[in-house]
Amino acid sequence: MRFAFAGAGFSCAVIARELAEAGHQAVVFEERDHVAGNCHTQRCSETGVMQHTYGPHIFHTGDEEVWHYVNRWGEFKPYTNRVKTQSQGAVYSLPLNLLTINQFFGKTMNPEQAQAFIRTQADTSIEEPKTFEEQALKFVGRALYEAFFRGYTRKQWGREPSELPASILKRLPVRFNYDDNYFSHRYQGIPAKGYSAIVAAILDHPNIEVRLATPFTPDLKPGFDHLFYSGPIDAYFQYEFGRLGYRTLDFQRAVADGDVQGCAVMNYADESVPFTRITEHKHFAPWENHERSVTYTEFSRECEEGDIPYYPIRLVKEQALLKQYLSVAEQEPDVTFVGRLGTYRYLDMDVTIREALDTAVGTLECIAGLRPIPAFFVRPL
Ligand code: UDP
Repeated sequence: MRFAFAGAGFSCAVIARELAEAGHQAVVFEERDHVAGNCHTQRCSETGVMQHTYGPHIFHTGDEEVWHYVNRWGEFKPYTNRVKTQSQGAVYSLPLNLLTINQFFGKTMNPEQAQAFIRTQADTSIEEPKTFEEQALKFVGRALYEAFFRGYTRKQWGREPSELPASILKRLPVRFNYDDNYFSHRYQGIPAKGYSAIVAAILDHPNIEVRLATPFTPDLKPGFDHLFYSGPIDAYFQYEFGRLGYRTLDFQRAVADGDVQGCAVMNYADESVPFTRITEHKHFAPWENHERSVTYTEFSRECEEGDIPYYPIRLVKEQALLKQYLSVAEQEPDVTFVGRLGTYRYLDMDVTIREALDTAVGTLECIAGLRPIPAFFVRPL
């Protein structure tokens, strides 16, 4: 069969590769002039630093098959994400761990004492936390919530934490030991040559043709048996029911000498600081040596027409809109919606790859069983 792919990020690259290896033809349309979507990396010509053009990406997964899969396409160097945060004039360690708790409260507690102490801070009246705020108050209490989460979250999402789902905060662990690894997954790393080299390797197959700087347009569809679409689902339907809400990011990029902040990620929890974090990209590649440095200061705001969509908001209003798009998508013949934008979900890279591998298997099963390929292998609602 002949497949079209809209987008050259992880979703389409992985599906295209699997189908190409099974003997099918794939044409990948990508509107940007590079592959890898928002994971794109590019070496800075001035400093030699590998830059994460659309914000930092650290690969982490508990899925052994996905870890082996990505390692097939290039070397991953071990990397542990250790994040710092500035709050009320001091620097602390994230995720919240024993060092953060002891420093913040000026104490020297051991794990058991800290747990007992945090229980005295926590709001035990909250049984089943539904919102971000409830989740924080129940598990860490008001002082830590206000110091580390409330301001950052208001800046990042432009909404009250009492309106946001608890699932956003569940991404972050709270630890009663000194483990400051931001992620709890077994496997973690960053590709030695960057993410774009990995995606380019996945796409490097005689049955795959990649057309960069070529947006997928509906008139192209009749030339193919099926389309995998990883663009925004509302854009596919020309925003017929309105725009799904996203947050976008503005990056203020700066080149400097030496070491600017001494770490890869420094968050800024206070609301008086207009940005959410500064990332210094040479620290994402500690195996390299660079005299000069590149920093990205990150500002979050509501995504408007023409902006790059980053974080799907998915509150009640957006979910109702998404439902409308799902119903038309499910009637659209010969299209499968994939990935973060195609299914309007906040997806980490490893989940994206897992879903793409499963989508390819499911697609091959449909072809073998002469069944239509569904609009969604993972239905977003
Ligand atoms: N968060 C926070 N303070 C921080 C870091 C994160 O309040 O210093 C909240 C914020 O709402 C964020 C969420 O926790 O959106 C998830 O954080 P994560 O680091 O996973 O965000 P990402 O790196 O995906 O932007």
